[in-house]
Amino acid sequence: MVFIGPPGAGKGTQAARLVENYRIPHLSTGDMLRAAVSQGTDVGRRADEFMRAGKLVPDPVIFELLGQRLTAADCAPGYLLDGFPRTLGQARTLDDFLARSGAPLDVVLELRVDDRALFERLAGRGREDDQPDVIRQRLQTYRDQTRPLIDYYAAQGLLETVDGLGTPDEVYERIVRALAKRKPAH
Ligand code: AMP
Repeated sequence: MVFIGPPGAGKGTQAARLVENYRIPHLSTGDMLRAAVSQGTDVGRRADEFMRAGKLVPDPVIFELLGQRLTAADCAPGYLLDGFPRTLGQARTLDDFLARSGAPLDVVLELRVDDRALFERLAGRGREDDQPDVIRQRLQTYRDQTRPLIDYYAAQGLLETVDGLGTPDEVYERIVRALAKRKPAH
């Protein structure tokens, strides 16, 4: 499962509920990168300046981080990708990798929230990259580089779009309904 949405859409909150419910690993590239930065690893040193600027970390760093993780045993039954892919290039690389491993994506969930609500949520969150200038840059990066993935996955029949405005419970209800549509009950 891939989870797509702009920064501040509530992906983290909803992803936590999803992985608890489905008992699958939560692979958040943002969380992995922040851990690498705080541990001062090589990946962390290479990612830090891009994250501070609200820009995308270069692909080789991301692939190094994720490559080992996706092939770990606990990912065999399935997993939730949160924050990856973020570009068409990353999406194509993921498709190639999944085709080779014989386990294609089941669904791509898009959490949709308008820009004004996003900005308000982000400004209230207080993370290091939640300063107004950086927020603007991250929203711009999303529009330019990540939004094209919506059409890419829609064309493959994989996309489910969910309205991200409302309480966490309301949004989670919508997500569960969207996922149930795709999977026959058994
Ligand atoms: P997030 O927690 O998903 O908002 O990610 C925080 C920051 O980590 C982003 O602003 C990027 O700088 C970086 N990042 C996370 N995932 C990726 C990715 N798939 N490709 C490039 N950069 C990423």
